[in-house]
Formats: sequence, C-alpha cells, structure tokens
Amino acid sequence: MTAKSAAAAARATVYGYPRQGPDRELKKAIEGYWKGRVTADTLHRTAAELRRSAWRQLAEAGVHEVPTGDFSYYDHVLDATVMVGAIPDRHRAAVKADALDGYFAMARGTQEVAPLEMTKWFDTNYHYLVPELGPDTVFAADSAKQVGELREALALGLAARPVLVGPVTYLLLAKPAPGVPDDFEPLTLLDRLLPVYAEVLADLRAAGAEWVQLDEPALVQDRTPAELNAAARAYRELGTLTDRPRLLVASYFDRLGEALPVLAKAPVDGLALDFTGPAAGNLDDLAAVGGLPGKRLVAGVVDGRNIWINDFERSLSVLGTLLGLADRVDVSASCSLLHVPLDAAAERDIEPQIARWLAFARQKTTEVVTLARGLARGTDTIAAELAANRADLASRAGSPITHDPAVRSRSHAVTVADTRRSPSYTERSVAQRAHLNLPPLPTTTIGSFPQTGELRTARADLRAGRIGTAAYERRIEAEIREVIAFQEKAGLDVLVHGEPERNDMVQYFAEQLTGYLATRHGWVQSYGTRYVRPPILAGDISRPEPMTVRWTTYAQSLTSRPVKGMLTGPVTMLAWSFVRDDQPLSETARQVALALRDEVNDLEAAGTSVIQVDEPALRETLPLRAAGRAAYLAWATEAFRLTTGGARPATQIHTHMCYAEFGDVVQAIDDLDADVISLEAARSHMQVARELAEHGYPREAGPGVYDIHSPRVPSAAEATALLRKGLEAIPAERLWVNPDCGLKTRGWPEVRASLENLVTAAREVRGQLSSGAF
Ligand code: GLN
Ligand code: ZN
Repeated sequence: MTAKSAAAAARATVYGYPRQGPDRELKKAIEGYWKGRVTADTLHRTAAELRRSAWRQLAEAGVHEVPTGDFSYYDHVLDATVMVGAIPDRHRAAVKADALDGYFAMARGTQEVAPLEMTKWFDTNYHYLVPELGPDTVFAADSAKQVGELREALALGLAARPVLVGPVTYLLLAKPAPGVPDDFEPLTLLDRLLPVYAEVLADLRAAGAEWVQLDEPALVQDRTPAELNAAARAYRELGTLTDRPRLLVASYFDRLGEALPVLAKAPVDGLALDFTGPAAGNLDDLAAVGGLPGKRLVAGVVDGRNIWINDFERSLSVLGTLLGLADRVDVSASCSLLHVPLDAAAERDIEPQIARWLAFARQKTTEVVTLARGLARGTDTIAAELAANRADLASRAGSPITHDPAVRSRSHAVTVADTRRSPSYTERSVAQRAHLNLPPLPTTTIGSFPQTGELRTARADLRAGRIGTAAYERRIEAEIREVIAFQEKAGLDVLVHGEPERNDMVQYFAEQLTGYLATRHGWVQSYGTRYVRPPILAGDISRPEPMTVRWTTYAQSLTSRPVKGMLTGPVTMLAWSFVRDDQPLSETARQVALALRDEVNDLEAAGTSVIQVDEPALRETLPLRAAGRAAYLAWATEAFRLTTGGARPATQIHTHMCYAEFGDVVQAIDDLDADVISLEAARSHMQVARELAEHGYPREAGPGVYDIHSPRVPSAAEATALLRKGLEAIPAERLWVNPDCGLKTRGWPEVRASLENLVTAAREVRGQLSSGAF
C-alpha cells in the first residue's frame, strides 16, 4: 500500500442517519398506527419514503456508500433480536400472529405481557431494548428486513452497505431471560449465534451487498480476556466464510484498546474506528499495532454525538497520519448520526452568527464529504470550505458568548473551601434537626406532582400567545395551591411545590441561563417514538435572575411546613444537553454550578430551609472505560459540592438519583456530602439501603418505598414492610420515607392513594419504634 493510493481512493460514508424525517413523520405514523388511525400499509409506505429521501439526501451530498438497515420502527437492537430469531417465549404467539404487532408488543408490552427491558445505549441518551437469552435460546436467521432495505437502496442505483449490530456486542448487551439464573452469560451462546450471522451475510451477499458493516461498540469497553477471545473467534469464523460480502467491523464511543490488535489480526476486510473525544487514542494505538495492512480503514473524524462544526484542519491532519496505516482510508462521522438532530438549517431562530457554529446530521454529512474530497484530491480542492471553516471556528473562539470575562474570572477564583460545607455533617445535622423539628422517619416526595393535561395546555397556550404571562402564572399558582393542600392533608412532613411550571427538569433551567440555546426542531430519538430536544450549552453560563424562587416562596407562603426548593444539578444539566467541545467538561460544569450556587443562596435568603439538587445523570455519564472514571467523578462531585457548598449549616441539602444499582458510584455519592439522598429502591426491595450501609454511608437516606414506574398503588402494609427492611440497614434517625422518583408521569388518583398509604406506613413504623417494637 502507498499513502498516495490510499488517499486517492478516499470516500465518504456514514453509519446511520436520523430516522424520524424532517417533520417527525415516522413518530406520527407509528403512533397513528398504535391508535388505529394509520394502516400497516400506510405506515410501511411512510417508512419506505423516509428511507428513500434520507438515502437520496446522503447521495446528493456526495456520500459514496449509504447505510441500510439502520432504519427502525423502534430500535435497532430489537431489530437484531428479530433478525436472529431470539423472540422471548412470552411474545412468540403475538409475533407469529402478526409480525408488526408482535414487534411493538416486544417494545411496549401489552395488557398481558411485559415488554423487553429498556436501557441506555452505552453513554448516549438513546435507549435500546435488552435482548433476553438463556441456555435454551434457539437462534434462527430472519434477514428479511436487512435484505429488503438493501434492495430498496440498490434499486435507487446507490452503493449501499448494510449495517448490523455485531454478534459479540449483541450478546454482551443481552441479559438472562426471566427464569434463567442471573449468572448465565449470554456470550456462551456465541457458537450458536455465528451460523445465524453467516446465513444473514450470505443472504445479503446474494442480494447484492459488496460490504456489510458489523457494529461492535461493546468492544470499546473494558473487556476480559475471555471476551476478547470470543471476539477473535467470532471474526475468525465470519472472516473465513466462503460465501460472504466484505466485512467492515465498526467501533465507536471510545478507543478499542485491547480489542484493536484482536480485530486488526482478524480476517476481516476493514475496520471503522472513532478518532474523536476519548477515542482519539485510537490513532497511537493503530500506529502501535503497525496499522491495518491490506485493510480498509473508515476514519470517524467528525463527531457524531455533538452538534458543533468540525475542525477541518485537525481532521485532515489525523487523516493524513492514517494514510500511512491502511490500504484505503475512508471518512465518516464517529458513530451513527442517529444521536444528533437532522438539520441545523431549520433553526431559523438561532442568530446567524451562532448558527454557523452548528452542524446537525445534514451538515455533518457535508463535512464528511468535504474531508473525503480534500483527502482524495488535495486540500486545494476544498480551499473555500477550509477558509469558511477557519472563519467559523475563529468566530466561535473569539465570541463574547463563549468568553464572558465575569464568568471566567469567577470560575478561576473558585477555591477548595468553596466546595466544602462547613461544619461537618454531624454538626450540621444538629442545627438542621433543631431548625426543622421533623418527626422520625420524615416523609417527603421527590419534587414533581402529576403533569396534568391542563398544565400542558396552559404552557401551550402561553407559547402560542393565547394567554398572557399573568394568566399563565395564575394557573400555575392554582396548581401549587392544590398540591400543597393535598400534602398537608395527607400528612407529609417536607412538602414540595410540585414543579407544575417545568416542562422538563433540564430545559426549564436552560431556558433561564445565559449561555444556553434552545432549538425548535432539534429532535433526537430517546427511545421508540419518544424524541427529546436537548438544549445546547453553547457559551459561558450565567444566571441573569433567580429561576425558582418565585414558585418555591409562593408554595411556602401557603403552609407552615417546610417546602423543599428543587434544582437540577450541574452534572445532569450537562448530561442531558449538547455541551460545548471547546473546553473541558469540568470547566463547563463549574460554570453551571456557580449559577446554581447563586440560586441556592437566593432560595435560602427567601426562607427555604430544605433544598434538593437532583443528579439523576451522575451515574449514566460515567466514562465507558474504568480508566477515565476517577477524573470524571472528581469534577462531577466537585461541581455538586460547589453548587451546595455555600449553604448555611441549618439548610438541609437533599439530592436524588433514579437508579437502584450504583455499587460503582457509592463512594462518589458519599463525596457529594448531601445531608439527605433519595434513591430508587422499591423494586429491588431496599437493596440500595443495604449497599449504602455496607459502604458505611454516614448521612440520611430515603430509599424509595413507592414504585412510581407503574400505576399500581402500593398498600400501606407493603410500604411498612419495605420501611422495616430499610431499618435493618439504616438507623431510624437517618431514614426518610419517600417514593422512588418524581410523580410527573402518574395520575392524581394513584398518587393520592399511594402517598396516603406511604404516610400511614411511616406513622405505623414510628409507633412501633416508640413502643420499642424494634
Ligand atoms: N425533581 C424531579 C422530579 O421529581 C426529579 C426527577 C428525576 O430525578 N428524574 O420530577
Ligand atoms: Zn428520579
């Protein structure tokens, strides 16, 4: 191979594209089908049309090889489950009766059967449906969807490359099916799964696929030698099939690390590697293994997960280095463009001088094409694009939006003392007890109360100008009055205002902070037909005025019991936004923390003595590889402590997290130094309480006793039993009584009954405690 011939052959490609269409047509068609308003035929036709127009767009932009099979009615991992025939037993009859309805039943469940579990796709905000496997799983190839979509693209005269979830990743993402012992390892099914992949590959070959892409992002995580061996075996076997297309094994989201030599040695025809963010280390790793002689390298140099324009010069320099390391170097985004919105040009409300910094899927595609052209034909052929890119980057770097001197000097002046509350918890807790005067086992909720149709209508009315601010605020106040009255009557101890004014716990704050941008059409798939519009954290962050004080103090004016102030923490503010890539996350987090710190201060000054700072995203933002975790947790916990570190000793700081498994972050949770933490625990029967106790967690905790993920009303007896379990791990002076999470997705009747039962349970256990029954 020569660098020159590798360069001359350079082409542009992507691994996947947003599925929803410019106007979320897919969401509308699917939801219409669920409601019986759209026929299956119409749904299929809409989907085919969306695929066609996406491919045309890609081809017209200059993408040489379009991806196929990345499209999905719900989720590509569920599609892989169908492809390998791993339909759970409980869904078999439905799938047999009607493939489409059975598919949606697996995704969403029905009255009779539970859906597959859903979880986050690596460290993105996309969720996939977890395959359920066991020793009795029988795989069977079903290549219809893959073959069908390939044929559609080929029929348009396009070069197309089917994209499949790779077999190793598929198994590593799976979990033991219900009834199968927890220690069952799905990877032990590899030998049974590979023949199925071989069959699908043969079918795709027969249908005209020259290349097939197998996605193995699970190989960027820390893997055991046995898992790496499995990967080696998988690709030795697939690579030595006689009747097969050429194989491109793709990885993204981090460096391949120990898996790189394994794949480099495998008899496959190409590797696709990520060269952005934490994955940039792939460059040195690739040089260290001697490159990929005889193979195609697809270089992911355009970040597929953020919304910022690429730095062309930096990318071209990476590509230039790669030329010497493979037979052919193609250019791509680092991962599927599924994780970014479709088109920045649709954002008419964003000022033009900021809009030029943005690249969504369409713009990223153009960037990939430009870079491929520069690589293949020389940078003078993209001189105009390079100049424009340089100017756009300079405008961003020199903008007062990204460099606010007041924010910067304040952030640089932060000291360790700012991030530590003094005195220690032991002394604080005495002051808090005296000040709050709560009963043992105090009861509270996590913040939100049901978001009713009326509230959503009020917000829509305000946005559309049908009602004015004053009328809107009256509606919110009426809701707060109702929420406070209910809590008093039910007998809760620490009240909340119910968050009726919040559309979303991140967006609400983003809209009020300087430095954040909102999009109108920036939808990104979260799961199935649920799309979110993450705000864009574009510049230095400051808080022009208090954000929550008005509502919290209004609520407090209605009651003599303490009302808890409610803030979204800095880590979650970053995790659920598109964040800037021109400075370390730690710096961005610190700016957000300082803005929130002022809010804490203002709440206190207005008489709030309990303040909750929610950090549900603390764990999900954990870097994929263990090596990066300590540094992340250090800045993440520092940002939380900077938010809360200025609170007076008598102010009780709460935090909340939404998950039941946190063994790997329990030390970080301790490091937050919050006075009280509430966590999800109802389904796991207080498992977290035991984990906290084992860790020696020294402060107060409220493991949830009411599972809010289901409309079911827990009886007082159930809540009592859970509380008694909690008391086995956490002493009564430090145990709180609360639901698992916020109540915004629930209906009022269930919430009323459930919270009344929760209070009854707390009172009953208090009685048992004082009568010495423990
Ligand atoms: N305070 C928020 C609520 O109650 C917390 C939600 C969350 O952590 N996901 O809705
Ligand atoms: Zn929660």
